[in-house]
Amino acid sequence: ELADISALLLSRIRDVADYPEPGVVFKDITPLLADPAAFTALTDALAEIAERTGATKIIGLEARGFILGAPVAVRAGLGFIPVRKAGKLPGATLSQAYDLEYGSAEIEVHAEDLTADDRVLVVDDVLATGGTAEASLQLIRRAGAQVAGLAVLMELGFLDGRARLEPALAGAPLEAL
Ligand code: AMP
Repeated sequence: ELADISALLLSRIRDVADYPEPGVVFKDITPLLADPAAFTALTDALAEIAERTGATKIIGLEARGFILGAPVAVRAGLGFIPVRKAGKLPGATLSQAYDLEYGSAEIEVHAEDLTADDRVLVVDDVLATGGTAEASLQLIRRAGAQVAGLAVLMELGFLDGRARLEPALAGAPLEAL
């Protein structure tokens, strides 16, 4: 079952060489989004993870995590919380800086969106170095909420984001479809 779904999903992801810079193979999910059977299968598989991990809320990471996470939240009957790049959310925020290859970045969440009662599943398209996901898990913990897990469409195993995320996950599952 999962093998069939994985094959379908993989067939709808386009590799774009040297984008956005030389040496990077960009994983373009727009063919998957344009295929209702594949997009539905992905949404169902992610919603099943949300249910299995006992999530009470879904976080989507800007920007493709919004596209994938929102229908999962609706399907699973859970609230959706956007984690955005710094400066985009109008209310009081918690923010978390993290290092990039060159320089640093910062993500934010509305502070009122996460409480101690929440168990949060983070959704994104591609896990690369794990820096963005790690920062999002730190936001969840700083808000006093629990981490249900991290669910991604695709994991770039050679970058070893999984190892980097071990401390922040603290035993919560990392699921890559
Ligand atoms: P990272 O923080 O290094 O794990 O990068 C994760 C973020 O960058 C995700 O939100 C992805 O959407 C995006 N990303 C990183 N590498 C790629 C790639 N090769 N193809 C598509 N998206 C990528």
